[in-house]
Amino acid sequence: MSENCIFCKIIEGDIPSTTLYEDEEFKVIFDIFPASKGHVIILPRYHAANIFELPQEITAKAFVLAKKIATVLKKVLGCDGINILQNNGEAAGQTVFHLHIHVIPRFKDDNMGLTWKQGQASLEVLEEIVTEAKKYL
Ligand code: 5GP
Ligand code: ZN
Repeated sequence: MSENCIFCKIIEGDIPSTTLYEDEEFKVIFDIFPASKGHVIILPRYHAANIFELPQEITAKAFVLAKKIATVLKKVLGCDGINILQNNGEAAGQTVFHLHIHVIPRFKDDNMGLTWKQGQASLEVLEEIVTEAKKYL
Protein backbone atom coordinates (compact mmCIF):
# COMPACT_ATOMS: atom_id res chain seq x y z
CA MET A 1 0.00 0.00 0.00
CA SER A 2 1.35 3.39 -0.97
CA GLU A 3 0.12 6.53 0.71
CA ASN A 4 -1.70 8.98 -1.56
CA CYS A 5 -2.25 6.32 -4.21
CA ILE A 6 -5.85 6.38 -5.38
CA PHE A 7 -5.77 2.76 -6.59
CA CYS A 8 -4.31 1.52 -3.28
CA LYS A 9 -7.22 3.28 -1.58
CA ILE A 10 -9.68 1.60 -3.96
CA ILE A 11 -8.04 -1.78 -3.29
CA GLU A 12 -8.33 -1.20 0.46
CA GLY A 13 -11.99 -0.22 0.03
CA ASP A 14 -11.36 3.32 1.31
CA ILE A 15 -12.61 4.73 -2.01
CA PRO A 16 -15.67 3.09 -3.54
CA SER A 17 -15.56 1.32 -6.89
CA THR A 18 -17.57 -1.28 -8.74
CA THR A 19 -15.73 -4.56 -8.77
CA LEU A 20 -16.07 -7.10 -11.55
CA TYR A 21 -13.67 -9.62 -10.02
CA GLU A 22 -11.16 -9.96 -7.20
CA ASP A 23 -8.79 -12.50 -5.76
CA GLU A 24 -5.76 -12.51 -3.46
CA GLU A 25 -3.56 -10.66 -5.94
CA PHE A 26 -5.85 -8.57 -8.14
CA LYS A 27 -8.92 -6.40 -8.16
CA VAL A 28 -10.72 -5.69 -11.44
CA ILE A 29 -12.89 -2.57 -11.36
CA PHE A 30 -14.95 -0.60 -13.84
CA ASP A 31 -13.19 2.56 -15.02
CA ILE A 32 -14.94 5.66 -13.70
CA PHE A 33 -14.48 7.46 -17.05
CA PRO A 34 -14.96 4.55 -19.47
CA ALA A 35 -13.84 4.68 -23.06
CA SER A 36 -16.65 2.23 -23.86
CA LYS A 37 -19.34 0.15 -22.18
CA GLY A 38 -17.64 -2.42 -19.94
CA HIS A 39 -14.20 -0.73 -19.80
CA VAL A 40 -12.42 -2.22 -16.79
CA ILE A 41 -8.99 -1.83 -15.22
CA ILE A 42 -7.03 -4.68 -13.69
CA LEU A 43 -5.25 -3.58 -10.51
CA PRO A 44 -2.57 -5.74 -8.91
CA ARG A 45 -2.87 -5.40 -5.11
CA TYR A 46 0.90 -4.95 -5.06
CA HIS A 47 1.76 -1.27 -5.50
CA ALA A 48 4.11 -0.79 -8.43
CA ALA A 49 4.16 2.55 -10.21
CA ASN A 50 4.69 0.95 -13.60
CA ILE A 51 5.66 -2.23 -15.48
CA PHE A 52 9.34 -1.75 -14.65
CA GLU A 53 8.61 -2.02 -10.93
CA LEU A 54 6.21 -4.95 -11.10
CA PRO A 55 7.64 -8.34 -10.02
CA GLN A 56 7.92 -10.85 -12.85
CA GLU A 57 5.47 -13.34 -11.36
CA ILE A 58 2.69 -10.77 -10.94
CA THR A 59 3.34 -9.46 -14.46
CA ALA A 60 2.80 -12.93 -15.88
CA LYS A 61 -0.37 -13.52 -13.85
CA ALA A 62 -1.73 -10.09 -14.81
CA PHE A 63 -1.72 -10.91 -18.51
CA VAL A 64 -3.34 -14.30 -17.93
CA LEU A 65 -6.06 -12.51 -15.97
CA ALA A 66 -6.42 -9.90 -18.74
CA LYS A 67 -7.15 -12.72 -21.17
CA LYS A 68 -9.74 -14.22 -18.80
CA ILE A 69 -11.48 -10.86 -18.26
CA ALA A 70 -11.43 -10.07 -22.00
CA THR A 71 -12.97 -13.46 -22.76
CA VAL A 72 -15.73 -12.95 -20.19
CA LEU A 73 -16.50 -9.40 -21.36
CA LYS A 74 -16.71 -10.59 -24.96
CA LYS A 75 -19.29 -13.21 -23.93
CA VAL A 76 -21.28 -10.86 -21.70
CA LEU A 77 -21.28 -7.78 -23.93
CA GLY A 78 -21.09 -9.40 -27.34
CA CYS A 79 -18.53 -6.80 -28.36
CA ASP A 80 -16.78 -6.99 -31.73
CA GLY A 81 -13.24 -6.56 -30.40
CA ILE A 82 -11.21 -5.75 -27.27
CA ASN A 83 -8.16 -3.58 -26.64
CA ILE A 84 -5.80 -4.58 -23.85
CA LEU A 85 -3.76 -1.53 -23.04
CA GLN A 86 -1.24 -0.56 -20.39
CA ASN A 87 0.38 2.89 -20.04
CA ASN A 88 3.79 3.53 -18.43
CA GLY A 89 4.89 7.09 -17.73
CA GLU A 90 3.28 10.44 -18.33
CA ALA A 91 4.59 10.54 -21.90
CA ALA A 92 2.68 7.32 -22.58
CA GLY A 93 -0.55 8.72 -21.19
CA GLN A 94 -0.36 7.26 -17.68
CA THR A 95 -2.31 9.36 -15.21
CA VAL A 96 -2.51 7.04 -12.18
CA PHE A 97 0.87 5.77 -11.05
CA HIS A 98 -0.20 2.39 -9.75
CA LEU A 99 0.24 -0.08 -12.58
CA HIS A 100 -3.00 -1.17 -14.19
CA ILE A 101 -4.17 -2.86 -17.38
CA HIS A 102 -7.08 -1.46 -19.34
CA VAL A 103 -9.46 -3.96 -20.91
CA ILE A 104 -11.61 -1.99 -23.35
CA PRO A 105 -14.48 -3.61 -25.24
CA ARG A 106 -14.82 -2.33 -28.80
CA PHE A 107 -17.89 -2.15 -30.99
CA LYS A 108 -17.98 -1.78 -34.76
CA ASP A 109 -18.01 1.91 -35.70
CA ASP A 110 -17.70 3.01 -32.05
CA ASN A 111 -15.42 5.89 -33.15
CA MET A 112 -13.45 5.57 -29.92
CA GLY A 113 -10.39 6.96 -31.64
CA LEU A 114 -7.62 4.75 -30.29
CA THR A 115 -5.33 5.34 -33.25
CA TRP A 116 -2.00 6.93 -34.10
CA LYS A 117 -0.48 8.64 -37.11
CA GLN A 118 1.52 6.03 -39.01
CA GLY A 119 5.23 6.72 -39.38
CA GLN A 120 7.83 5.33 -41.75
CA ALA A 121 10.14 2.50 -40.61
CA SER A 122 13.85 2.96 -41.38
CA LEU A 123 15.87 -0.26 -41.68
CA GLU A 124 18.97 1.53 -40.49
CA VAL A 125 17.30 2.73 -37.31
CA LEU A 126 15.78 -0.70 -36.69
CA GLU A 127 19.19 -2.32 -37.01
CA GLU A 128 20.66 0.15 -34.52
CA ILE A 129 17.92 -0.70 -32.05
CA VAL A 130 18.47 -4.45 -32.49
CA THR A 131 22.23 -4.06 -31.93
CA GLU A 132 21.71 -2.10 -28.70
CA ALA A 133 18.87 -4.32 -27.46
CA LYS A 134 20.94 -7.49 -27.93
CA LYS A 135 23.17 -6.30 -25.06
CA TYR A 136 20.24 -6.67 -22.67
CA LEU A 137 18.08 -9.42 -24.12
P1 5GP B 1 -4.12 5.73 -17.14
O1 5GP B 1 -4.41 7.00 -17.87
O2 5GP B 1 -3.22 5.96 -15.95
O3 5GP B 1 -3.67 4.59 -17.98
O4 5GP B 1 -5.52 5.25 -16.58
C1 5GP B 1 -6.08 5.67 -15.40
C2 5GP B 1 -7.55 5.33 -15.47
O5 5GP B 1 -8.08 5.32 -14.16
C3 5GP B 1 -8.36 6.31 -16.30
O6 5GP B 1 -9.01 5.62 -17.36
C4 5GP B 1 -9.36 6.87 -15.30
O7 5GP B 1 -10.62 7.07 -15.85
C5 5GP B 1 -9.38 5.81 -14.21
N1 5GP B 1 -9.65 6.34 -12.88
C6 5GP B 1 -9.07 7.43 -12.31
N2 5GP B 1 -9.55 7.60 -11.07
C7 5GP B 1 -10.45 6.61 -10.85
C8 5GP B 1 -11.30 6.28 -9.75
O8 5GP B 1 -11.33 6.93 -8.72
N3 5GP B 1 -12.10 5.18 -9.90
C9 5GP B 1 -12.09 4.42 -11.04
N4 5GP B 1 -12.91 3.37 -11.08
N5 5GP B 1 -11.33 4.72 -12.11
C10 5GP B 1 -10.52 5.80 -12.01
ZN1 ZN C 1 -1.02 2.07 -5.27
